[in-house]
Amino acid sequence: MTARLLDGKALAATMQAEIAADAAAFTRAHGFPPGLAAVLVGDNDASQRYVRSKRKACEKAGIASWLHQLPQSTPQAELLDLIAPLNADSAVNGILVQLPLPPHIDEPAVVDAVSPLKDVDGFGPESLGLLAAGRPRFLACTPYGVQQLLVRNGVPLAGAHVVVVGRSNIVGRPLSLILSQKGVDATVTLCHSRSRGVALLTRTADIVVAAIGKLHYLRADMVRPGAVVVDVGMNRTPDGGLAGDADFEALLPVCSAITPVPGGVGPMTITMLLHNTVLAAKLQRKAGR
Ligand code: NAP
Repeated sequence: MTARLLDGKALAATMQAEIAADAAAFTRAHGFPPGLAAVLVGDNDASQRYVRSKRKACEKAGIASWLHQLPQSTPQAELLDLIAPLNADSAVNGILVQLPLPPHIDEPAVVDAVSPLKDVDGFGPESLGLLAAGRPRFLACTPYGVQQLLVRNGVPLAGAHVVVVGRSNIVGRPLSLILSQKGVDATVTLCHSRSRGVALLTRTADIVVAAIGKLHYLRADMVRPGAVVVDVGMNRTPDGGLAGDADFEALLPVCSAITPVPGGVGPMTITMLLHNTVLAAKLQRKAGR
């Protein structure tokens, strides 16, 4: 058996075309486009790259975007002073504060400062709380992208046992909530660094999601033949390349479907950010803002 590739790049292109049509309809109806403000603090290379690709994708989809770039030494109060007027600006529908922030800044304080109606990253307590309460508004982009990759590739989720390895607030935890929601109906086991017998658990799964950030962590003997593997990890290889948390080559003959890295979950993350920005614009219009 050779696994089917769950092609995030292709799905992202399809979905971004759908989102562009949606954004154009919004612009026609209201006379201005949905808008995303990106805030970047410091000169982290990866963060700069991510923000550049997010803004490029916005432009292609007909979403206005603005970049607020601040030096590494920016005091927390100054960053909060920038977010307040963005919260009040009606042209700005979504606010993206690129993480990680410099160590002297308290990340939760900044995440909390973003208006819940503009929290297009879905990291804020109101977004996560609504999801946990079964009334989702903005789903965090990476786990939302994982769900879309599975659903749009026809991978059955209702009743399936999904083992998610990694419990961060931006990937594993919201993914466990998304997949166990009523209507999605997976049975989810969420593992972390203190879980005992992770390999025993992953071997019982219909779908294994690896989201820990360790190169080639998920070995072929940790996955049941025929299971589906989603690889969220993005790790630098010793030769400067990019690879996931799964041992891709070894897993190909074992699983029935797998996401490649790059070209799997990554492009879906950006896509769901665009989706959330258009959703935010619609919700704000509805709320009369
Ligand atoms: P993170 O905040 O560092 O969280 C890692 C999680 O993995 C933690 O819950 C940790 O457990 C768990 N973990 C670490 N070692 C483990 C082990 N040996 N066994 C079981 N669990 C273990 O990472 P993150 O931000 O979620 O990111 C995870 C990976 O996804 C990274 O490679 C990141 O670059 C990638 N990522 C990709 C995208 C994308 O768009 N493709 C987006 C976001 C992140 P504890 O909680 O117990 O510490």
